[in-house]
Amino acid sequence: MGLALVPVSRPAPGSGGITGTWRTLRPVVDLNKCIDCGICWLYCPESVIDWEKGQKIKIDYTYCKGCGICAHECPTKAIEMVPEAGL
Ligand code: SF4
Ligand code: SF4
Repeated sequence: MGLALVPVSRPAPGSGGITGTWRTLRPVVDLNKCIDCGICWLYCPESVIDWEKGQKIKIDYTYCKGCGICAHECPTKAIEMVPEAGL
């Protein structure tokens, strides 16, 4: 029996999942560097990365906590953590 390839947590509105204004960094993806591997999707502890093979990844910033795990794990360094203040 194989392991299911799904993130282990799922954020939900109203259960403490929505991120407040305290987030200082957000991940921004350079799609030119992205090789569509799905590792960021697999590692995101908040399960806020929408990924499907052959489609561009999307990050739901409503729930993203800015932890930077996705950027750390990305093998091509396609994700940059950008200061919220500069956006
Ligand atoms: S980990 Fe990096 S290369 Fe892989 S899908 Fe995510 S952004 Fe793209
Ligand atoms: S910064 Fe953290 S919460 Fe946001 S998408 Fe990356 S891994 Fe998920």
